Amino acid sequence: MIIDCDANATYAPDERIRGVISSCLESLGNPSSLHRGGQRARAAIEEARASVRRLVDAEEKDVIVFTSGATEANNTVVAAVSSATGPIISASTEHPCILQPLKRLASHGRTVVLVSPQSDGLITSESVASAVTPDTALVSIMAANNETGVINPIAAIVAKVRAIAPRALIHTDAAQLLGKGALSMREMGVDLLTISAHKIGALSGVGALCIRDGVDIEPFILGGPQESKLRGGTENVLGISVFGAVADRIASELPARVESMRALRDLFEERLARAIPDVEFNSVHLDRLPNTSNVYVPGVRADDLIVAMDLERILISSGAACTSGKPEPSHVLLAMGQSEERTRATIRVSFRADLSQEGCVRVVNALTNAVTRMRRMKREG
Ligand code: PLP
Repeated sequence: MIIDCDANATYAPDERIRGVISSCLESLGNPSSLHRGGQRARAAIEEARASVRRLVDAEEKDVIVFTSGATEANNTVVAAVSSATGPIISASTEHPCILQPLKRLASHGRTVVLVSPQSDGLITSESVASAVTPDTALVSIMAANNETGVINPIAAIVAKVRAIAPRALIHTDAAQLLGKGALSMREMGVDLLTISAHKIGALSGVGALCIRDGVDIEPFILGGPQESKLRGGTENVLGISVFGAVADRIASELPARVESMRALRDLFEERLARAIPDVEFNSVHLDRLPNTSNVYVPGVRADDLIVAMDLERILISSGAACTSGKPEPSHVLLAMGQSEERTRATIRVSFRADLSQEGCVRVVNALTNAVTRMRRMKREG
């Protein structure tokens, strides 16, 4: 059996999704069609919208726009302020789907300020506030980091930003926090919030941008009038319907799910620290995602460890993003001031809630054996 400890990359759907998919197959018309086939699809989408709205605790009048994922939602946010003039404030630990569009705007002369994290990975409200000016157009800070799991103080950030720049749009990428902790758009007070379906056990290729009532943004994809005229193109009816069904399930299971994840993560860290005393867990003293452990294993290459674990049918990841066959060191860990060497020896283990304790112990044992073997080989040259 494969043990999937890479839930932050994608939280693969469990068996229960089969029933959901087969019932969704009944309603795959074009939601824009006037006939009953279209109306059934439209009803399925609106039901999913209500479920997603509940899961993110948005106000009734807030607009939930379904997109192709968090990447598109984040790009939409950046595009929405591309023709404004004020500075944009974000953080160097953001996901590339925020950083890359910002980089493009900066290359066209726009002022983009990336706030640095503390050495433990936290983006403080003070550091964001010190970068904001009254003419700031956009502040975008992620709710939880995909690599370290660090949860940023979004409500405090919003309060400070509003006091300095009342007209700034405030966005948070909550793709990783959704389904792993309490998430309330209402309480955060943001204008815009991004989520992704495949991070909670629904299908990839779907996400949403949640827009506070009264916030006016430009559409990113132009075409038909779908999604409140904010996202042209025939809706992904199956993906959206599954997203809604999984959102309902998560809403009812969240406390138990979070507790299971936390128990697994704590067991893992406690046992691994005993087995390999020189490992270091990043960001442990902070509020962080209950399922995420970011571990520095001195003297070992993370990529080798991933392959060794894969041979044991255990899936983990490194902080490195592999593009064009050449793994780059994690920009998140580098931003935290860590050396390139350390980032290359750091792995991310991100648990699913349904892993058993025995499975978790198997992960610790396999890691311990692989690290011991690699260190021996290194010593013996
Ligand atoms: N934002 C964060 C924080 C993520 O972790 C990811 C996925 O890795 C994304 C955005 C992109 O999500 P999607 O795959 O839905 O485009």
